Amino acid sequence: MSAPIVKGWCPGALRPMMSGDGLVVRIRPPLGRLSQKQAVGIATAAETFGNGLIDLSSRANLQIRGVSETDHAALVTTLQGLGVVDGDPQIEARRNVTVTPFWQDGDPILGLAQSLQTALADDDAPQTPGKFGYAIDCGPTPVLTQTAADIRIERDASGKLIVRPDGAMFGAVVTAETAVPVALDLARWFLNTGGASGNRGRMARHIATGALLPSLFAHPVTLPDAFKADPGQINFGTMVALEFGQISASQLARLADLGPLRMTPWRMILVENCTVPINIDGVHTSADTPCLRVSACTGAPGCPQALSPIRETARKIAPSVATDQSVHISGCSKGCAHPQSADITLVATGTNTFNLIRNGLASDQPDITGLTLSDLPDHIKNRGI
Ligand code: SF4
Repeated sequence: MSAPIVKGWCPGALRPMMSGDGLVVRIRPPLGRLSQKQAVGIATAAETFGNGLIDLSSRANLQIRGVSETDHAALVTTLQGLGVVDGDPQIEARRNVTVTPFWQDGDPILGLAQSLQTALADDDAPQTPGKFGYAIDCGPTPVLTQTAADIRIERDASGKLIVRPDGAMFGAVVTAETAVPVALDLARWFLNTGGASGNRGRMARHIATGALLPSLFAHPVTLPDAFKADPGQINFGTMVALEFGQISASQLARLADLGPLRMTPWRMILVENCTVPINIDGVHTSADTPCLRVSACTGAPGCPQALSPIRETARKIAPSVATDQSVHISGCSKGCAHPQSADITLVATGTNTFNLIRNGLASDQPDITGLTLSDLPDHIKNRGI
């Protein structure tokens, strides 16, 4: 196997990214689900070839951390044996599909996800930019509207199946048979009308430039309020949350004992059909847990771009965060762990110094600059004032 390409534009298992603690090897679980055997296999691989820590990403992927370059090839072979990594980096890059975890036997969700994955593996599949992705979100109400995706298969308020370009309030009405071909035609339209430049380009940005959609996309759509997931028992099983969306190999293996696992983009895992109480240290089933009230990126020392060890800071400020407040803390203005706006975003500007942004992203203009660690609790309690 060729040497890994470090700092790739959109890293995957075959093209890992170098981070402060070694290679980050991203796994896109097929159909957003891991069988018990796959989950245990990933946990063992993370212990054997990595540092035993696994991130849950905002696109419902897993990232094995701390892999050395010499161990990368053996890790990929192991993951391919588990059926969670493609054989070809091009296919791996295209298979960027987030699936709602709220599916049940007999509904079309998994069938659509499977058809899309199969079509994306074809040689003539649209070669979209690295971050371009799809959301299969056609449960009764869309739940992935805040999850990064460029082409969405959803239902409108009356239950019609639609394909919707991200950023547009119009979709094309489709059937379970036509949804995937229409989605791929939309990706081709994106490419043919100049949506991509090099390996960059996103649908919402292209729509915002005024690009004229094909006439099929004329069905008006009203989006529901943003979905908020909470840990705890739900119809489909038990949703568990992890501090900062990071799970250890041993936690993952113990969860896998309880059932197949569905990945979510909310840094939680749905343990399929699990109705028994879950007592695993660091695995939370109640939203009333202070450490879950604040999200944080990897920060220092895991990320070389980080200006401060922000997870330590996040633990310190968590008790000051109200239950109805969203606070994100970022090690730099890239904000890669939280592409959405938060009530308060804190961006490190140096070791334990921060800027504060109200209702925005880490890359936005700060509302307050030059805060120190001791300033943060009061500013959070005062809602960023
Ligand atoms: S936001 Fe910056 S510091 Fe945080 S993980 Fe991304 S690049 Fe690293």
